[in-house]
Amino acid sequence: MKRKLVVSSQEDLQIHLVRYLMLSVRCKICDSGTLVQRNKFRMSGPVVAIGYILLIPSILGILFSAFLFFSPASKTDGPNENTKKRVTEEMQNAGIPAQVINAVLKGDKKPVDDWLDRDSDQDGRTIRQEMVVSSAQSRMRPDSSGRAFASGVIGGISIFMGVISFIGGLLGWLLVMKRQILECNVCSAVVNAS
Ligand SMILES: [Zn+2]
Repeated sequence: MKRKLVVSSQEDLQIHLVRYLMLSVRCKICDSGTLVQRNKFRMSGPVVAIGYILLIPSILGILFSAFLFFSPASKTDGPNENTKKRVTEEMQNAGIPAQVINAVLKGDKKPVDDWLDRDSDQDGRTIRQEMVVSSAQSRMRPDSSGRAFASGVIGGISIFMGVISFIGGLLGWLLVMKRQILECNVCSAVVNAS
């Protein structure tokens, strides 16, 4: 007569399962210890150290390049507030009419041209005033003094640095990755779990 596994109830099934699982984690080498799940580094000690050495500056590099990329230095948003203030003061000191100053600040050409086209004898406008206005206009241009070029270079550097950092970080992460093992709590025999 064949022996059959009789499972009469839900509780019986659970007991059988628990027994089966307990047998499967019993150490086959010493036959007394149980195998305990642990996480261990995939690589040897020095390689893991190299991994961390790669990982830490890579994370900092990614953060820094992101900061650089989103910083005002990489944007062409026209002249900054300081330039605006200085230009305004210069024009006010030179006695330029208020509507011309506003037009220069907004980058609006027409009112300035109209002012320059007017007869200077009648307007009382001096050559010095014209020079102040044209100098102010050139400084209010968004792409003046290589600003666009500089921001392009900064943007490019930040993207390049971000990519290098990302590759370094990926490599470092691979080196410090862990794997699951089963280790006997008595004889320290190791079985791969994954
Ligand atoms: Zn063992």
